[in-house]
Amino acid sequence: MLEVQGLSAGYGEIQILRDVSLTVGRGDIVTLVGSNGAGKSTLLNTICGILRPRAGAVRLEGTDITGWTSEAIVGRGITQVPEGRRLFPHMSVRENLLMGAYRRRDRAKIQRDLDWMYALFPILKERQRQRAGSMSGGEQQMCAIGRGLMARPKILILDELSLGLAPIMLDTLVDALRMVHQEGSTIFLVEQDVATAFDLATTGYVLENGRIVLSGPTADLKVNPHVKKSYLGL
Ligand code: ATP
Repeated sequence: MLEVQGLSAGYGEIQILRDVSLTVGRGDIVTLVGSNGAGKSTLLNTICGILRPRAGAVRLEGTDITGWTSEAIVGRGITQVPEGRRLFPHMSVRENLLMGAYRRRDRAKIQRDLDWMYALFPILKERQRQRAGSMSGGEQQMCAIGRGLMARPKILILDELSLGLAPIMLDTLVDALRMVHQEGSTIFLVEQDVATAFDLATTGYVLENGRIVLSGPTADLKVNPHVKKSYLGL
């Protein structure tokens, strides 16, 4: 579905990403983990067309989308749920969810997907008329994920799902994403919380100083001595 090949990118003179390659297959949950400053946001910005790479390619279903505008990339089916949620705070929860579907014309299916979001996150149904900005951080995160899914993307990219969330709220979100995955969605999760990311995803990549230093099934990565020591505190 998504293929990143030999990507190098940076800002001005500074090179951040060095020869980054990864793939996300259709229907998979794949994660990329790394500490602060590893280059995760730089990679997402490059995939989503905000930053132009110096070398390498990004392909979606075999089409080279390197250098496309963000608008064109979204239109092609990549939706990112950004870190910090960025909802429309003065609009209601329902309006925010519907904004996710603004490119779609299949009204009956949009209504069905809205019901699906309410089934996935019952709190959003209760709060559907409430201003999105007045909800708790975790509720806003649910709404942001729901808005992303309403676009029916080919691939949903989640940036720092766990950021600032209480453990119980994180568990709820992880359960919801498992259900989303069972429905056939393809998810790329970029995370600092390695334990959560490796529980949810089947394949993982570890980014350090702009390079992929480890990759493979998360079951193997979880028992890798470097991962255990540097990321899992074991
Ligand atoms: P975090 O988890 O803290 O967001 P990250 O893994 O997403 O970290 P990036 O935000 O990609 O890391 O940053 C990687 C490096 O690029 C950092 O050293 C950062 O200072 C640098 N950087 C990020 N944005 C810019 C910019 N606009 N101009 C120059 N350097 C930048």
